[in-house]
This record gives sequence, structure tokens and C-alpha cells, in this order.
Amino acid sequence: MNATIDRIRRQVSDLHQELVRYNLVVWTAGNVSARVPGEDLLVIKPSGVPYDELTPANMIVCDLDGKVVEGEHAPSSDTAAHAYVYRHLPEVGGVVHTHSTYSCAWAARGEAVPCVLTAMADEFGAEIPVGPFALIGDDSIGRGIVDTLRGHRSPAVLMQNHGVFTIGKDAEAAVKAAVMCEDVARTVHLSRQLGEPLPIAQADIDSLNHRYQNVYGQPQAR
Ligand SMILES: [Zn+2]
Repeated sequence: MNATIDRIRRQVSDLHQELVRYNLVVWTAGNVSARVPGEDLLVIKPSGVPYDELTPANMIVCDLDGKVVEGEHAPSSDTAAHAYVYRHLPEVGGVVHTHSTYSCAWAARGEAVPCVLTAMADEFGAEIPVGPFALIGDDSIGRGIVDTLRGHRSPAVLMQNHGVFTIGKDAEAAVKAAVMCEDVARTVHLSRQLGEPLPIAQADIDSLNHRYQNVYGQPQAR
């Protein structure tokens, strides 16, 4: 088997444990995928397999239409949405989907998480936007993700009444965005219980985001 695919299988399998570690998932909900560099392929979780049974060997390799190329199980039921993102956003190397609690609480109201924390300006550079209500089964979810995130600084979208999809330059970056999305959704929710969070001026959001993405640590390009 191709060494690059083997590496991506291991990465995707390992990153699923991060969703568990950060309490972003229950039961078998949630999934991580990665584009296979240099190939029109993605690696994604099998459908309905418990997190503690995920291994590099049982990850599913699909083409960018979501058809299985290698794998014993059916791929995640969200594979079509992931594949749509890879087809339409060539810079994206990883996609994550969760139903994490606080993010879903915002999604259920169809309300964007406002950018009211400097850490959020760093990571997201904007509000976390809401995408359309869409049913599983065709390209509606994928189209909603791409239409909302294309040209948006945020790597996360709250799909209305559903959950979070995040994108990144690779799968690790997409997992980081999913962790950070839940963290800020929780904090801003808590702030709302006590009053109205104070806005940050757009120029300051721009400055924070530019510094963090271009100067702080290693570049966080996605
Ligand atoms: Zn879902």
C-alpha cells in the first residue's frame, strides 16, 4: 500500500481520539477526514464504528466523489459533504464534523457566535458564521459549507439546526478549529448569561488576526 495513504490513515485514526479527548463527540457521531496529498483521494472514518475501535487499518479511502476505493466498512454518512468541500476548496486538506454541545446550542438558534474575545479574533478573525439548514443525502450540506466559508476568515461554520464543520490546511488544523470553536461557543454562551458581551472593533479584530496568523509562532495558514 502507498506510504502516503498509510501515513494519512494513521493521522486520521489518531485525530479521532482528539475529538474524544476534548469531549466534542458522543457515541459514534463526529468524523475527521484528510485529503491524500497529490491524489484525488480522501481518508475518513468508517460509519458507525465506536471510537475505541478505530484503527489506521479500518479508515476508509474514498475518491473525491465519495466512492470507496479501499475499506471494509461503509464510509461515514457525512462523506459526501467532506468530498464536496475537497472538490470545491482545493486549499483545504482536512475537514472535521462534530455535534459538540455549545456549538450546537448556537446552531440550533441559527445564531453566529460573535467575535468578542481576542483569542477568537486570533483563531477565527470574525464571527463563526451560520450555514443553511440542509438535509443529508445529496450535496446540500457540502454546498452550504463551501458557500458559507469560501472567502470567510473563519475555518468553522455552524450548520443551522445541525452542528459544526471545520476546515484546515490539514486534518490537524481542522481538529484544532473544532476544539477552538467549541471553546469560544461555550465562553460566549456563558458571557451571555450575565449580559451582553462587548464588541471588539473591526480594526482590532483585523490587527489581532493578522498578527496571529502571520507573526505569532508558526504561520497558521489553512
Ligand atoms: Zn452531523
